[in-house]
Amino acid sequence: MPSYVITEKCDGCKGQDKTACMYICPNDLMMLDKDGSLIGKEMKAFNQEPDYCWECYCCVKICPQQAMDVRGYADFMPLGAASTPLRGSQDIMWTITFRDGRIKRFKYPIRTTPEGSIKPFEEFPEANPDDLDNQLLFSEPQMLGVDELPKLQ
Ligand code: SF4
Ligand code: SF4
Repeated sequence: MPSYVITEKCDGCKGQDKTACMYICPNDLMMLDKDGSLIGKEMKAFNQEPDYCWECYCCVKICPQQAMDVRGYADFMPLGAASTPLRGSQDIMWTITFRDGRIKRFKYPIRTTPEGSIKPFEEFPEANPDDLDNQLLFSEPQMLGVDELPKLQ
């Protein structure tokens, strides 16, 4: 089942131009009905194309209001249960609500380094505009273990 918005909880990310769920969805599926003209629910987000949702859980995890849900994966919850994440800086606390009302919680770590300590581009050289015409990928050919890639003669 694709993601859906629990409208009672969604606050439209307080009317920002891009809501958290719009920002994070890798498929650009989430939209905000700012004036109620799209789904008749003012300032509520919705999944505009559920068939294209691959249930990646990104929107569920980022929503600050816990207003998004997706069918849970069978390896951590039974059919019909609801999962609600609560993000912390080091881990996510998951609340699983079973169909019979029982509630179970588990905490899952999400990082092994202090927040802000990773400098992803630290060892990269300065960008060179001439590289836009280069057909090699950034890591080629050195990551392939060769000095030069073969060329058609
Ligand atoms: S991230 Fe959550 S609160 Fe924000 S617009 Fe999306 S569903 Fe609503
Ligand atoms: S579950 Fe993933 S693909 Fe589906 S709407 Fe949320 S972020 Fe997009």
